[in-house]
Amino acid sequence: AESCDSYRRRHEITVTGDEVPPPFTSFEATGFSPEILREVHQAGFSVPTPIQAQSWPVALQSRDIVAIAKTGSGKTLGYLIPCFIHLKRRRNNSQLGPTVLVLSPTRELATQIQAEAVKFGKSSKINCTCLYGGAPKGPQLRELDRGADIVVATPGRLNDILEMRRVSLHQVSYLVLDEADRMLDMGFEPQIRKIMKEVPALRQTLMYTATWPKEVRKIAGDLLVNPVQVNIGNVDE
Ligand code: ADP
Ligand code: MG
Repeated sequence: AESCDSYRRRHEITVTGDEVPPPFTSFEATGFSPEILREVHQAGFSVPTPIQAQSWPVALQSRDIVAIAKTGSGKTLGYLIPCFIHLKRRRNNSQLGPTVLVLSPTRELATQIQAEAVKFGKSSKINCTCLYGGAPKGPQLRELDRGADIVVATPGRLNDILEMRRVSLHQVSYLVLDEADRMLDMGFEPQIRKIMKEVPALRQTLMYTATWPKEVRKIAGDLLVNPVQVNIGNVDE
């Protein structure tokens, strides 16, 4: 098998952090359940993408992670598959609130994430609810009331629903900020910081971004604890 250094060099992977585990260079190396491997196979995926290969072993150690990789590099499954495994170990009563929270900048992206969660999480029987603006709250609230293990939300709508006290984030132990750079560009920082006050400090936090400007570095410094940083290719600042 290819060495860790050679794989990282070939895929332009750079890592920082304490004792970063070697990448999973194949799906066989992941130890994922046969059900998840079947979904991945059925989707036609033959190898993990570099960001998946390097961020999965880190995420499975329950560590915080900042992953910087350009659009189209497979970041969604980078956090979703470890989230399914986290849910298997840590699932709470979903009536009390979600265990996993994914923040996303737009309705379009949030619904794509939900679709991937449903597709790849079929075998884990997870409930995933999507909360976004520009649509009536009623159906979203009713879905929440049925119980959700995973909530995928845009920051504005989630805050509205928090203010109505129709959801509790006190059970969240796995938090994802997807497209963090875009969320900040769109002015969601105050909303994100408000949401963070409702999420327990004891949690795993994963941040995914395509670029690494100082605003993103700042919020990563505030929200993540001793993260492993994984970069793929050149990083735009
Ligand atoms: P990003 O979030 O980095 O922009 P996505 O997670 O949206 O990227 O993935 C981009 C596309 O690649 C999606 O169509 C996804 O299904 C596909 N994909 C994800 N993982 C793999 C893989 N291991 N092999 C091939 N395609 C993949
Ligand atoms: Mg993405």
